[in-house]
Amino acid sequence: MTAPFLPFTRPSIDEETIAEVANVLRSGWITSGPKVLAFEAALSEYCGGRPVRVFNSGTATLEVALRLAGVGAGDTVITTPLTWVATANVILEVGATPVLVDVDPITRNIDLDLLEAAITPRTKAIIQVDLAGLSVDRDRLYAIAGKHTLRVIEDAAQSFGASWNGKPIGHSFGDDRDFVSFSFHANKNLTTSEGGALVLPADIDTGLCERLRLQGVRRFPDGGMDVDVLGGKFNLTDISATIGLGQMKHLAAFTARRRELARRYFARLDPSLGLELPVADFTNCNWHMFQILLPAGADRGKLVAAMKEQGIGVGVHYPALHLFSLYRALGFREGDFPQAERIGARTVTLPLFPSMQDSDIDRVCETLTASLPEIA
Ligand SMILES: *Cc1c(COP(=O)(O)O)cnc(C)c1O
Repeated sequence: MTAPFLPFTRPSIDEETIAEVANVLRSGWITSGPKVLAFEAALSEYCGGRPVRVFNSGTATLEVALRLAGVGAGDTVITTPLTWVATANVILEVGATPVLVDVDPITRNIDLDLLEAAITPRTKAIIQVDLAGLSVDRDRLYAIAGKHTLRVIEDAAQSFGASWNGKPIGHSFGDDRDFVSFSFHANKNLTTSEGGALVLPADIDTGLCERLRLQGVRRFPDGGMDVDVLGGKFNLTDISATIGLGQMKHLAAFTARRRELARRYFARLDPSLGLELPVADFTNCNWHMFQILLPAGADRGKLVAAMKEQGIGVGVHYPALHLFSLYRALGFREGDFPQAERIGARTVTLPLFPSMQDSDIDRVCETLTASLPEIA
């Protein structure tokens, strides 16, 4: 008997949530409504009472954050080349210029030793990413941002449920001028199928945030309306918000289970295989992904195929984004960011999700061990 296919990730949705989604579908109100407000209230409570607005993606949240921060043509925004391309695409979307800073080889997050040298008078904001749910050093990040009075937009798409110094990501680690953007895409630690949330700084008008979310429309009590800003079509549905509310109840358990499974990977992966493992953080990291780096010269394509043949899905998150055609056309070149390129070329995401069994980890490790000699 062959074991069932093991994907690299899979959402856990309980029956109570499925029943509640069915209730929403029968209710006659299926777009943004009371469930969205309830989800925003739950998220705000999780984020220490800060204002939170939900969106239909974690890309929309980043774009709106940039607009609220007044970032546009002529400005530059600093970010990492080792992230989902959405992080940099939104900078282009608002007409600004992305400036990339290489990553730290150990954390694989933006290298804070290199950050200050990239800041110029045109720099308006920094978008940092907590890759795989491992937090960027918030103390250092905000010290640098504060010194240069730069706005920080935390792309915390992967770090919902993670923390820094024991405080959940979503709380303010700076002077409350920072935005925090979460994604609830199906692969993220908490999902609404598609969706996102934006935690707003104290100095930002929540009404303007709502107008940027939906066509710029401002409604009046007499039924009239006006449009004074160009908004998008970024609202979340009550169907999605209901999934999110159901997921919130399990967040702590999801994170705890991911940590256990990650620990098992460390215990089972043979050091003699020559793999580079992630930072072994079991207190702050939410283990959004478990990413190994293959030895130099290993054929990643062959490994992906060999694992698939054995019924195991693995992922590649991510190739360094400055080498995509769109970014090369902006002038980026091979060699610009050696660490991001090295990691991007060798990274493999192993299966990790809360409903995995301990035996699944063992199976992944055995299959990987057997496959590595064939791809050297
Ligand atoms: C998933 C993700 C996004 C985008 O989120 P969507 O909800 O898919 O739009 C942005 N940045 C990072 C780092 C992500 O992982």
